Amino acid sequence: MESIRRTKIVDIFKQLEFGSKVDVKGWVRTIRGNKYVNFIHLNDGSTIHNLQIVADAEKFGEEFFKPISTGACIHVQGKLVESQGKGQKAEIQAESIEVYGTADPVTYPLQKKGHSMEFLREIAYLRPRTNTFGAIYRIRHHMAYAIHKYFNDRGFFYFHTPIITASDAEGAGSMFQVTTLDLNNVPRTEDGQVNYSEDFFGSPTNLTVSGQLEGELGAMALGAIYTFGPTFRAENSNTPRHLAEFWMIEPEVAFYDIHDNMDLAEDFLKYLIRYALEHCKDDIEFLNEMFDKELIERLKFVIENDFVRLTYTEGVDILEKSGHKFEFPVYWGADLQSEHERYLVEKHFKRPVILTDYPKEIKSFYMKQNKDGKTVRGMDVLFPKIGEIIGGSEREADYDKLVQRTKELEMNTDPIWWYMETRKFGTAPHAGFGLGFERLVLFVTGMANIRDVIPFPRTPNNAEF
Ligand code: ATP
Ligand code: MN
Repeated sequence: MESIRRTKIVDIFKQLEFGSKVDVKGWVRTIRGNKYVNFIHLNDGSTIHNLQIVADAEKFGEEFFKPISTGACIHVQGKLVESQGKGQKAEIQAESIEVYGTADPVTYPLQKKGHSMEFLREIAYLRPRTNTFGAIYRIRHHMAYAIHKYFNDRGFFYFHTPIITASDAEGAGSMFQVTTLDLNNVPRTEDGQVNYSEDFFGSPTNLTVSGQLEGELGAMALGAIYTFGPTFRAENSNTPRHLAEFWMIEPEVAFYDIHDNMDLAEDFLKYLIRYALEHCKDDIEFLNEMFDKELIERLKFVIENDFVRLTYTEGVDILEKSGHKFEFPVYWGADLQSEHERYLVEKHFKRPVILTDYPKEIKSFYMKQNKDGKTVRGMDVLFPKIGEIIGGSEREADYDKLVQRTKELEMNTDPIWWYMETRKFGTAPHAGFGLGFERLVLFVTGMANIRDVIPFPRTPNNAEF
C-alpha cells in the first residue's frame, strides 16, 4: 500500500473526505464479528468518538483477528466510507491492519464493562484509556490553555514562583519538608536541635503551599501577574475536595481593591466555563449523559447569572437563622465548612456566592484590615457542589499595620523579611486570589471526587504511579 500519513480520528470526523485513503492508529475498544466481517471500534485519544473499522474476515483470515482484542494497539489503512450503521457517520474499510501491541484478555484490566471509579483509581496507569478519563483529561488540558489565554489576552504576565521555599509563614496548611539530610543519622547542634546548616539549602525548606507571597513581588513590578503551578499541602484531610499535590492559579494585581478582585474572579470563572462549553462540547455532553444529567444546565446557569456578593457576617446570619441542622456548628467567628458554603449557594441563594470581610482570626496575616478592627478584606468564591473554589483578598499594603498583625500572631517574620520590606519601598494597594485548578475541573466535568480529575492523585497514604 502506498505510504500515507497517519490522521487523528478527530480530524477524520472533521473533514469526512469519503473515498479517501486514510491511515489511523489507536487502541481497540471493542471488537465483534462473524464469519464474514469484523467490526473494530478504535480510539486514539484525540476525541471521545471511536472510529469503526470494518474488516472482511475472508480477506484477512479468521486467525488474523485472534490477537486483536480490547486494549490492543493497531495500525489500520483503508478507505473512508459513509457508515451504514447507526451512531456513526463514517467508517473505514480496512485494507491492511498491523498489530503494534496485544493486550491479553485474561490480564488486561479494562474490559468493556463499566468499572467503578474506585477500581479505576487503582489502575490509574490505564484509566486514561477509558472514555470517561479521556474526556476529563482533554477538558483539563483545554482549561489550562484557556487560563493562559485569558490572562495573556488581558496583559497579565505568567510569573514563575518557586516550588521549594524557606518561608513557613503563610499559614495556609501543613508543609512537606524538603531535605537531603540522612534521616537515619541527622546532624545535631550542640543543644540537640537538627543542624540545618548542613542541609542542602543551609536552612529548613518546604514545598510551597502557595505562590502568593512571591506573586505579590511580581505584581509590584509588572503590574499584573499570574502564577500557575503545583502546590503542596500535607493536611491529613481525606475529603473529595482535597489533594496533597494540586495546581493553583494565582493572579495578583497592583492597584486593585477587593471589588476589582471580585470582578476579576467572576469574569475569569465565567470565561473558563464558557470556553469549556464551546471547546469541549463532545466531552462535556458525554459526561452529562453518563454521570451528571444536570452538568450542562449547571454550567450554563453559572455563566448566565450574577454571583451574589455579601459579607461573612451577613452569611453567618443567614445560616444561623436557617434552622438547618449542620454537622459543624455555625456562629460568628467560625471557619465555614463546605456544608455551610454549599447551603448558602445551593439552598439559600441558588447561585454562586462571594463572601467577603471575614473575621481576621480565621484568615491570613496579609489580608487588608478593615476599620472595624475585627474583619479583613478576604473573599471566597463559593460554588455549587464544590464549596470554596477561590480564596483571595485585598492585601495589607501598610507596613505598620502588617507588622502589628504579625506581632499579634507571634509570627517569626525572619524568613519573609523580603515580603515585609515591599511595604517600605513603593507600596501600593493590590489584590489577588487563588483558584484551585482541580476544583475548577471538578466543577466543569461534574465529577464527584477530586482524585478523578488529576491523572495521578497524591493523597494521604497514596503516592503510587
Ligand atoms: P479549604 O478551606 O477548602 O481547605 P483553603 O481555604 O485552605 O481551602 P486556600 O489557601 O484559600 O484554600 O487556597 C486557594 C484555593 O486552592 C482554594 O480556594 C481551593 O480552590 C484550592 N485548594 C486549597 N486546598 C486545596 C487542596 N488541598 N486540594 C485541592 N485544592 C485546594
Ligand atoms: Mn481559602
